[in-house]
Amino acid sequence: MEDINIRDLQHFLYCQHRWGLIVIDKVWAENIFVIKSNLMHENVHDSNRVTYAKNKKTFNAVAIYHDELGIFGVTDSLIIEKNKYILMEYKPTKPKGSDFNIDDALQVFAQKICVDSIFHTNSKGYLYYKNEKFKIELPFEKEYEFYYSLLIKKIEAMRGYLLKNQIPSIRKGQKCSGCSLKDLCMPTRNVKYNLKQIIFNKLEEEE
Ligand code: SF4
Repeated sequence: MEDINIRDLQHFLYCQHRWGLIVIDKVWAENIFVIKSNLMHENVHDSNRVTYAKNKKTFNAVAIYHDELGIFGVTDSLIIEKNKYILMEYKPTKPKGSDFNIDDALQVFAQKICVDSIFHTNSKGYLYYKNEKFKIELPFEKEYEFYYSLLIKKIEAMRGYLLKNQIPSIRKGQKCSGCSLKDLCMPTRNVKYNLKQIIFNKLEEEE
């Protein structure tokens, strides 16, 4: 079973083709959004930085895993407050028109599954938006089944592609404006004939 990095899950959720380019084709490129996010994470990814307050400890960049599901990753902050475990994931900007993206929530849920299994707990997950200095608790208690089955579905899909060493094709309606791989990927919108896309489609038909 191929182990899945939770960070890669997020690429897959944003655009499965982008995930394939990064994980299977091993390409990478940065743009302003990637750099902004990297700079913001510099602090929270310093695992030597542990903060203590009354009844509260905050650990950064904690390595986590779940053997049964074959997933692993690194948290932003893991807070232990009065024996309660809280995951805090930092994002540069709050999405327009909603409190969170499902993709970001699923990333935190995958971390929660790992933390719960390691520490035998029922952790809470939060997103913190730097631009608005706003945090939101994610609805894992109420919607556990939804997030769990979505996570399994996505992990299985990723493993399927990894097994075949195949880069998934571009989804219909894929939004590309913020993607750092645009110059490498050359998405095909508004192009009538594209050999690369035809080959991807053919491979998918033959599955
Ligand atoms: S440019 Fe668009 S289709 Fe290509 S990898 Fe990025 S998001 Fe996906």
